Amino acid sequence: MKKEVITVIVPCYNEEESLPLFYEEIKKVALEFKEKNVKLELLFVDDGSKDHTLEIIKDFSKDKDVHYLSFSRNFGKEAAIYAGLSKANGDYITLMDADLQDPPKMLLEMYHYLKDEDYDTVGVRRKTRKGEPIIRSFFANMFYKIIAKISKTEMVPGARDFRLMKKQVVEAILSLEEYNRYSKGLFSFVGFKTKWLEYENVVRVAGKTKWNFWKLLVYAFDGIIAFSTAPLVIATFLGILFCLISFILILIIIFKTLIFGDPVSGWPSLVCIIFFVSGIQLFCLGISSAYLSKTYLEVKKRPVYIIKESDVN
Ligand code: UDP
Ligand code: MG
Repeated sequence: MKKEVITVIVPCYNEEESLPLFYEEIKKVALEFKEKNVKLELLFVDDGSKDHTLEIIKDFSKDKDVHYLSFSRNFGKEAAIYAGLSKANGDYITLMDADLQDPPKMLLEMYHYLKDEDYDTVGVRRKTRKGEPIIRSFFANMFYKIIAKISKTEMVPGARDFRLMKKQVVEAILSLEEYNRYSKGLFSFVGFKTKWLEYENVVRVAGKTKWNFWKLLVYAFDGIIAFSTAPLVIATFLGILFCLISFILILIIIFKTLIFGDPVSGWPSLVCIIFFVSGIQLFCLGISSAYLSKTYLEVKKRPVYIIKESDVN
């Protein structure tokens, strides 16, 4: 029987501290897979790290089952995922963080669902966000609530990028050639039969998270813009609403003047109204500009990543 291959894609950005720990753990899992006649192949993607990440993964790649790609600069995790998926050629493909937040041991269970049951992909979601700042959890929960309401693409709360997929699913993801890649949405957009496994949140083994609050907020907005056009409808709706309000106000003023002969008064309220309405206008302009700017980046057709060196082709 042909030996099956699982490609493990590991995006790495300044992960010199966690990589040796990760490698040790994944090797243990590789041995367990070997007993099942499955080969675990590693593909490290160095996302323009400024520390010794590249040296470390080059050193790992002396092993014939370990490969690497290195970007010319930091292109972001989404780009690293895309590059990894494009270059992976296993029968099954998985994405894992280098910081052991995605427990490598879960791969065995995930593989079981794809192999013995009829699933095409297995995703992992956190049951709780223990160990995470409260404010971050609050906004994350809010994001999932909003996106569930305004997008047709389902985003599972707490879902991580950690997932095991059949080759066919990866090909579907790669067929989406957009520049603004929001993987959580893309995974769900392509469909296929998905099994969700739950686990307790694990904190990073070493090093620091690359995300701060601001970056997460921008990431959330990117997700909304990539997978919903509802904000544009909100802009239109606000426009119509304000036209109606002003129409009613005009009628009231005309009647008041005709019946009571009221002289026009109220400068302060007028100023407030002007400020309020121009605020709304700028807000709506901002919404359409957000879509315009994404379209602008999309039509330029710039590459999602640039490889400086690698041992795969
Ligand atoms: N990462 C990357 N490029 C970046 C930022 C992060 O390849 O620009 C990698 C990082 O090395 C890690 C994974 O993406 O393996 C997840 O990053 P992190 O642990 O900082 O995110 P968190 O788990 O806190 O969401
Ligand atoms: Mg992490």
